Formats: sequence, structure tokens, C-alpha cells
Amino acid sequence: MTPERQAHFRERLLALEKEIQVDLVASKDASGVVELDTAIGRLSRMDAMQNQQMALELRRRQEQQLQRITNALKRITQNRYGFCGRCKQPIAEERLEISPDAVMCVRCA
Ligand SMILES: [Zn+2]
Repeated sequence: MTPERQAHFRERLLALEKEIQVDLVASKDASGVVELDTAIGRLSRMDAMQNQQMALELRRRQEQQLQRITNALKRITQNRYGFCGRCKQPIAEERLEISPDAVMCVRCA
């Protein structure tokens, strides 16, 4: 991969990282503990708990992606970016274009 392409993916990763961090901060309130002793009805409480589960699940996925982005940025500085973690072959740049945090090539994923 050329240094220019690497710089391009680094930019993409940093932008993605920022986006998720903003999202995580915004969802912090939404994933707070549902108060079970509040005066809201049983059904709306179930709704609230379901929403909370979904918010937590989304958060979990975003935290995992953030971790993958951090790892990808680390691989860039170590000049190992863009190589499959399993077969060590270069990952297609079209794939990296879609998910710059990809750790495996299409065949291994
Ligand atoms: Zn592979």
C-alpha cells in the first residue's frame, strides 16, 4: 500500500473514531439504569427496559468497533496495516474502503 493510501485510511479511521466517540457520549444517558420504582406503568417500564437493552447492545458494538479502530491505527504506525490477520495477504482496498477497521481479508472473514 502506498503511503498516500495509508494516510487516506488513517484519516478515515480517525473520522470514524471521532464519530463513534460522539455517539457514545450521546447514548450515555439513554443506557442509564431504568428506575424500577418510578410511577410509570408496567408496560412503559417494559418498553423502557427494552430500549435500554437495545441501547446497551449498540454501545457494546460501538465500543468493540472503537477497539478495532484503535488497533487499526496502531497497525498503521507499525506498518502492518492492510494485511490479513490470518493469511497475512493484503486486504483488498475496496474492502478497507467499506470498513477501514477490517482485520481479515474477505476469504478469511
Ligand atoms: Zn486472509
